Amino acid sequence: MARPKITVIGSINMDLVTEADRRPEAGETTLGRQFSTIPGGKGANQAVSAARLGGKVTMIGCVGEDAFGKDLLEHLEREGIITENVEPVTQLKTGIAAITLAEGDNSIIVVPGANNALTEDRIVQYENIIADSDAVLLQLEIPMPTVIRAAKLASKHGVKVILNPAPFQKLPDELVNDADIITPNEHEYVALMKEYSGDPNTIKEKLVITKGGEGTVFYKQGQEVHIRGYKVNAVDTTGAGDSFNGALAVQIAKGASLEDAVRYANAVGALSVTKFGAQSGMPTADEVHHFLA
Ligand code: ADP
Repeated sequence: MARPKITVIGSINMDLVTEADRRPEAGETTLGRQFSTIPGGKGANQAVSAARLGGKVTMIGCVGEDAFGKDLLEHLEREGIITENVEPVTQLKTGIAAITLAEGDNSIIVVPGANNALTEDRIVQYENIIADSDAVLLQLEIPMPTVIRAAKLASKHGVKVILNPAPFQKLPDELVNDADIITPNEHEYVALMKEYSGDPNTIKEKLVITKGGEGTVFYKQGQEVHIRGYKVNAVDTTGAGDSFNGALAVQIAKGASLEDAVRYANAVGALSVTKFGAQSGMPTADEVHHFLA
């Protein structure tokens, strides 16, 4: 079978991670222990997950015309992701997350930067790419009007839309209508149902709720279906949701049933938590095959 074509429309960030014994007070300077730059952003993470699992992945996003942007593009290309539609923009810097790991906790400042340049006007130029996809995968780290338009274009061409509503924002009715599958985690699910003003039954049939180690829940003709998670030794749960979404997109794009797609994505999510890092913990198709054998 030809590789399933997945278009990821979303964020691309560089995570700037500083490890220190303690975080500085306001106005204070302290010495840190270690610094690393790690490719991230939910869009890019999910693109990497889908590509490692055999998807033919096209990324649509924006980076700045700066060193981080260049590094991130090269990194995506090394992962086999098609990046010709990732546009370097001059007016904004590449998105970053400044992360401090100290005193057993992390504090994070995200600056979306160039991710905000992925506007609705820009997305309409990619209608052909969207139309030619088997599935479109969206998150909420780019402007909401862009997400709405992307889902509408995909839906117009009968392309499956998978929406990962993270980080949580209130979902407009039209976006819910155009999405085929909506994948909140437990926290996002609670917020979503609280804020959603449309018919709860419309959204319920589209929901795939991830519940960490417990696995995943969705609804089939009003009945709850629980697909159990795999028991693994979890060392770092960062990126579990991103791994899961990339995997789900590949399976749905291949035409798998929702149940089979979720079972596979649970395995991918489980494998991802057995290793440190978001992207660095994401398994390849071969690794999943061995795990499930
Ligand atoms: P997020 O990272 O968005 O909070 P979850 O924590 O719900 O998402 O994880 C997504 C999926 O990854 C889960 O549905 C499950 O399949 C898998 N997963 C996450 N944590 C574990 C774990 N500790 N053990 C096994 N599978 C896990």
